[in-house]
Amino acid sequence: MDDDPRFTADAMLARLARWLRVLGWDTRLDPALPDPEIVRLAEFERRILLTRDRGLLRELRPRQALEITHDQPLAQLVHVVRELQLAAPHELFTRCTVCNTPLSAPLDPADRARLLPPDVQALPGAARACPGCGRIYWPGSHARRMRDALDRALPGWLG
Ligand SMILES: [Zn+2]
Repeated sequence: MDDDPRFTADAMLARLARWLRVLGWDTRLDPALPDPEIVRLAEFERRILLTRDRGLLRELRPRQALEITHDQPLAQLVHVVRELQLAAPHELFTRCTVCNTPLSAPLDPADRARLLPPDVQALPGAARACPGCGRIYWPGSHARRMRDALDRALPGWLG
């Protein structure tokens, strides 16, 4: 695959969608849309549809889809990475895990001082903002725990 993969996740896969976004992959999640609309949009936008719904796959026959059978979000992620033979991204946390918008360039010192909580100001590494929903991301313990979880789930993959 030349470009980064792009996904649509069904409503059952919200936590998987967050992991895919942590890895920087564009992942649409529209829990309110009816199934035929989800399939139509995924095809129009050339996204791989990830779904737990075997009935949807059988009845609507999306062109590019992967059935997810695991219950645990990280096991689901491992399945997606292996099945589609996806290369690890160069960097984690480049996309908002909540709204799927690509994050800003690293904040400059003035914005950092203005936007980050005082106790994380001094942390090394880039802090970024989401232009979509305004969330601020910084490389704290939460980010480290997520990276560790990825390393355990996919040993050696992140490099
Ligand atoms: Zn956002």
